Amino acid sequence: SVRIALFTRDLRIHDNPLLSGADEVVPLFVLDPRLAGLSANRQRFLHQSLADLRGSLRELGADLVIRSGDPVAETSRLAREIDATTVMVAGDVTDYAQRRVRRLRDERLHVEIAPGVTVMPPGALKPAGGGASYRVFTPYFKSWERAEWRQVSGTPRKIAMPEGIAPGRLPEMPAGESPDAIPGGETEARRRLRAWLPKISRYEDEHDDLAADNTSRLSAYLRFGCLSPLELALAVRAADSPGAHAYLRQLAWRDFYYQVTAAFPKISTRAMRPSADGDWRYDDDALEHWRDGLTGVPVVDAGMRQLRAEGWMHNRARLITAAFLTKHLGLDWRLGLDWFFRWLIDGDVPNNSGNWQWTAGTGNDTRPYRRFNPIRQAQRFDPDGVYVRRYVPELKDVDGAAVHQPWRLPEPVRRGLDYPGPLESHRDEAVWLRD
Ligand code: FAD
Repeated sequence: SVRIALFTRDLRIHDNPLLSGADEVVPLFVLDPRLAGLSANRQRFLHQSLADLRGSLRELGADLVIRSGDPVAETSRLAREIDATTVMVAGDVTDYAQRRVRRLRDERLHVEIAPGVTVMPPGALKPAGGGASYRVFTPYFKSWERAEWRQVSGTPRKIAMPEGIAPGRLPEMPAGESPDAIPGGETEARRRLRAWLPKISRYEDEHDDLAADNTSRLSAYLRFGCLSPLELALAVRAADSPGAHAYLRQLAWRDFYYQVTAAFPKISTRAMRPSADGDWRYDDDALEHWRDGLTGVPVVDAGMRQLRAEGWMHNRARLITAAFLTKHLGLDWRLGLDWFFRWLIDGDVPNNSGNWQWTAGTGNDTRPYRRFNPIRQAQRFDPDGVYVRRYVPELKDVDGAAVHQPWRLPEPVRRGLDYPGPLESHRDEAVWLRD
């Protein structure tokens, strides 16, 4: 019998359980009008990924059927057209994804949930002391490492698809907003993975170094499933070095936040620790300076400008800019979360929300009151100021680490810079400004 493979966050042919099995299959992607709400960066990446997937499926003797409309209504309509009763879809944790499955079942379709969005399916690992999910990362990571991972799905050599189904058109490529954004697609993802793996031995030492830029930059490919997280984890584990271990730990954070979100679906709007969620400020002017990269604190501004130019920001800069918003300016973490979500190509609910809550101290940080001095961070992770000068051209003539504190430059030099003085703090942590 024929079944529908409903693609969502798994836009790939390698290690895609949707494509395993010998029976006839119809690969389907539904362009939900809600996708128009995605940021321009993410829409463009999605478009490139769909074009690439369609090309690969055609080479395997099939196609990607593209329909527009409500995913449930369109899947159900196609099922009637081709007389299919089974739909396979990747398991996902958001409210939206879970409702989609319920609605497909209401249409009397048999829905099979496939793994593949994370290395370990959310909920598969249970804390020893009881409870549905882990709330603390380290014990989660220990059991994640020891757990048996599923087998990789073989890559199909040919896909049997019934004839006579109109494939549907992929609309025009939308314009992106970030001039230096990376291109989407599985082909590109695999090329980048191959190029990056030899550098993994340096990851432990360099992943926090802002200027070295030696992280994998694979997050957007994981976000859209152009790359299987399991395949990535296995390739990294095989590298067996301290760098590889450090990398696996980061990848496990991703799985961790997915299982947190499965247990706490309101993670993007509600604090996980409500008692820590009061007392935020709402100051449009300060928020705008932060968004535009004009806070007057160079490392913060560099990060915020990288976000807009590339649709991506280095993890260390995400930590610094998020801590600056919440702990220095005292603004509500949800304001920052929304802005990141608008620009990040890798932006997704579990990772964006989990990390924002961690930084704001409303989430699962075991040290929620930790201080984060942006100048000390800058001196440590951008010791020569290379990262700052790369993204803040107004400061390109200031040499070395002096670039991190323009307010300490001799008065005539400072006056010659077209760069603002630092925004005032609303939390007492900011003694660093008076240093
Ligand atoms: P690498 O250093 O190469 O890491 C490899 C992979 O591990 C990443 O691709 C990612 O999938 C995972 N990973 C690494 N660090 C984390 C982490 N802290 N939490 C969860 N997964 C991690 N990541 C997103 O994928 N989407 C988001 O929306 C997102 N929002 C964030 C918001 C804030 C405030 C912060 C502090 C972090 C956020 N992160 C998010 C996590 C992290 O910054 C990015 O995953 C990472 O920078 C992506 O670059 P990379 O692929 O080069 O990472």
